[in-house]
Amino acid sequence: MTRILIAEDEPGIALGLEDDLAMEGYTVEVVSDGLSATRRATEDPPDLILLDVMLPGKDGFDVCRELRRRGLRTPILMLTAKTQEAEKVMGLELGADDYVTKPFGTRELRARIKALLRRSRPEEDPQRYAFGDVEVDFERAELRRNGVVEELTPLEFRLLSTFLRNRGRVLTREKLIAAAWPSETFTSDRVVDNHIANLRRKIEPDPVNPTYLRNLRGLGYRFDG
Ligand code: CA
Repeated sequence: MTRILIAEDEPGIALGLEDDLAMEGYTVEVVSDGLSATRRATEDPPDLILLDVMLPGKDGFDVCRELRRRGLRTPILMLTAKTQEAEKVMGLELGADDYVTKPFGTRELRARIKALLRRSRPEEDPQRYAFGDVEVDFERAELRRNGVVEELTPLEFRLLSTFLRNRGRVLTREKLIAAAWPSETFTSDRVVDNHIANLRRKIEPDPVNPTYLRNLRGLGYRFDG
């Protein structure tokens, strides 16, 4: 049973989420303030936490910071208000894994939840990945598209590996640099974007309108696949 803790103080939204996720087969618990969210998440860690930003008592940012400080690794999906770009950045900096913007569609939310759960399962770290017409074999350092080998630079491989191991999770350029670049090299955001553009040409059906490697304006990138 996959357990989801919902921290949301608006009864209408909480109820809707609870019903929808229960229908999907998840075991759902709802709390309506920040202190209860922190307490329940640490007492009995769920598989995923849906965390509203504006909560009474202790807001979602404080809850997120506190849970990460205590070493909790459960994926956290923040529910942020529309147009609050700063909220998204802040949540991610405090250790949230992803966000959805209110008002959100249930399909989008379900997809985000599934992606985070998939990523967080420890057995999900295979040497081979497949998405669309692409197959990646990290052991052989080989990428095939429709069965044909595409040449990737070592850096592109490290970037792709970082994305595939963090599917569904927003990665800032800072995180990408830390993960894929040799330490002590100076890299700008622009350079990261250039390498991602090159990578897209090798994996995307339409590199100009990417399906997998999505850019999130002002935040970074997320691999959806
Ligand atoms: Ca709220």
